[in-house]
Amino acid sequence: MGERVYNFSAGPSALPASVLQSAADKMLDYEGAGMSVMEMSHRSKPFEKIIRDAEANLRTLLDIPEDYEVLFVQGGATLVFAMVPLNLMTGSGKADFLITGQWAEKAYQEAAKLGDARAAASSKEQKFSFIPKVPAGEYRQDADYVHITWNNTIFGSKFPEVPDTGCLTLVTDMSSSILSERIDVSKFGCIYAGAQKNIGPAGLSIIIIKKDLVGKAKENIPTYLDFKTHADNGSLYNTPPAWCIYIAGEVFKLLLERGGISAMEEINKRKAAKLYDYIDASGLYTAPVVREDRSLMNVVFVTGDEELDKKFVADAKAEGLVQLNGHRSIGGMRASIYNAMPEEGVDKLIDFMKRFEDANQ
Ligand code: PMP
Repeated sequence: MGERVYNFSAGPSALPASVLQSAADKMLDYEGAGMSVMEMSHRSKPFEKIIRDAEANLRTLLDIPEDYEVLFVQGGATLVFAMVPLNLMTGSGKADFLITGQWAEKAYQEAAKLGDARAAASSKEQKFSFIPKVPAGEYRQDADYVHITWNNTIFGSKFPEVPDTGCLTLVTDMSSSILSERIDVSKFGCIYAGAQKNIGPAGLSIIIIKKDLVGKAKENIPTYLDFKTHADNGSLYNTPPAWCIYIAGEVFKLLLERGGISAMEEINKRKAAKLYDYIDASGLYTAPVVREDRSLMNVVFVTGDEELDKKFVADAKAEGLVQLNGHRSIGGMRASIYNAMPEEGVDKLIDFMKRFEDANQ
């Protein structure tokens, strides 16, 4: 077997090696079942334990209050872009969006197909280099909710704090930052995330939703898209993405062993600060996002010369530091340093960046 690389991919991303190893060890026989989790009935006792433990551990990690449902669904965050308006844009039929990146825009466009979606603010003209601050009074006061994207995976920005939306329900896409820092779940009506960055394999999305927001869906929507379908059936209405839920559950256990989210936050802040400090001090690299809104998970930077950026990505790859290219729509570089990226990986990247800078000035 070859060596594992340092994988800086934005998603699907690196998973903890210990989780992968343990899953491999149990691949042919999961804890005496004589079969793998992939081959098991989702109604079986072992799987029932896997899904309920996963939910309980996620509740502990994020300190999710009792009056919230935790749903495990398929379809990626992209399907949740549609589920949210189908389920929640059902009072006045209006929702306000903060456009802070491409995913935020996609969530907005999807909602605009289904109701009266409005962009309350956007940083698009400034290449999404900051998070717009909107006073609570500027949202439509009869909106069913305000939607934000907590961490902007492509541009490398994030909300520095929960925006004030007054009494309006706040919904957030946390696909690329969930489990990376402490969050106060009670400030949100709904939090959702695709799994393939900080949780587990692609194919699973997690929706954390206040119970009183369940059961408000439009009539005649497809059964699968109604939050109530999943809430009423403990995410077992139909066959769930069982393998993904199993791996997610193993990641949750590991995070608890490592000290939970506050411990992860401390490490993540240290990892990101090292990288940004080096970039800010360097003569070659710049980070386009304003300091106060920088992502802890996706560190975006450029040299200012596209050819040199390409060389950077290729030279880094040759040293086992892979997937450092920026999103195909913007180029440059992006180091995604989710929970599973060890601090040592960030140190190795900085060491490479120094050598590359010396050699290419
Ligand atoms: N939202 C954010 C913030 C993302 O980063 C992504 C994927 N990179 C998506 C939504 C879309 O997720 P999916 O591919 O799971 O539909």
